[in-house]
Amino acid sequence: RVLRVAILGLGSYGTRVADAMQSCKRAKLVGAISGTPAKLKEWQSKYNIPEKNCYNYDNFDQIKNNKDIDVVYVITPNALHKEHVIRVAKAGKHAICEKPLSVNAKDGQAMVDACKAANVKLLVGYRMHFEPKTLEVIRMRKDGEFGKVLFFQGLSGFTIGDPTQWRLNKQLAGGGAMMDIGIYSINGARYMIGEEPVWVTAQETKTNPEKFKEGVDETIQFQLGFPSGAVASCLSTYTMNNLDKFFLNGEKGFAEMQPSTGYGPIKGRTHKGELTQPHMTHQTIQMDEMAAIIFDNKKPVVPVDGEEGVRDLKIIDAIFLAAKTGKKVSLTV
Ligand code: NAD
Repeated sequence: RVLRVAILGLGSYGTRVADAMQSCKRAKLVGAISGTPAKLKEWQSKYNIPEKNCYNYDNFDQIKNNKDIDVVYVITPNALHKEHVIRVAKAGKHAICEKPLSVNAKDGQAMVDACKAANVKLLVGYRMHFEPKTLEVIRMRKDGEFGKVLFFQGLSGFTIGDPTQWRLNKQLAGGGAMMDIGIYSINGARYMIGEEPVWVTAQETKTNPEKFKEGVDETIQFQLGFPSGAVASCLSTYTMNNLDKFFLNGEKGFAEMQPSTGYGPIKGRTHKGELTQPHMTHQTIQMDEMAAIIFDNKKPVVPVDGEEGVRDLKIIDAIFLAAKTGKKVSLTV
């Protein structure tokens, strides 16, 4: 059974997903939701989307009467995810939501609860959870090939341009670099080490308070402690270019990936040699796998459900608190 998808938010990432879906085997782009009529017209002709599957932000609740759409993929600014996903759930459709799931754990949990109450699935667009080289490193770790895992380093950042964009507006972004790109190091630390952190420490630096206003983080270094004793040391930034590197160290070996989370190809090596798994467009595999998760209850190697999104948000909440107070924040309570 083919997953029939409508995309809500036809911006730059929405377009990337739409393009990638043209190569999917089990997922098909069939609908679009936008506040801009001209974009809907463009998508209708570019992706062969019927007019009856196009909606705007005022009327998309009517999607509940549309039998030709199974799932709505929400790709709007972070702070809008909550309202959009809850409306999708109330319309009785499954929801896929971009990362970060929301702007704090409480709102993320409300989204999980709303989808549960509506008996629809909620998945988060964690494309790295399906990436072949990433999955090979996870397999090696699970098979004990690194021995006891001791340390992870994650560096996630880029230099952000236009100061007027929503990513630098606390109301729409919910934060700064951490919500947008630092989340890759948080999520990566969890899937590379294979444990949930129990404490967080964090230090924030700001070189440009004019561009990065109150509540919009420019650079945060953070550390995570795991139950086994493993530790992670990470950097999230909007002012250093092309920072995209993971390093995992264990008693018997290591994995090193750079780029580690970009659109690819991902490159990496371990103590056993180069990672040679073929590159596939991340969003194409993601959408095919999500069809299997939604229709066949397939269990992915690393979860992509709403709860997984909330786990990262709890850590982000704790990082912000640790950076503000200078104190070590426990994640076990
Ligand atoms: P974008 O600015 O290119 O697109 C956002 C879309 O939302 C636009 O079409 C815009 O018109 C629409 N929108 C609706 N209401 C809006 C409002 N009130 N203000 C501003 N825009 C509004 O942004 P993007 O890069 O496509 O990011 C969208 C989401 O996708 C974000 O949550 C981001 O974190 C996520 N994303 C994920 C990845 C990934 O690799 N998984 C990559 C990029 C972006």
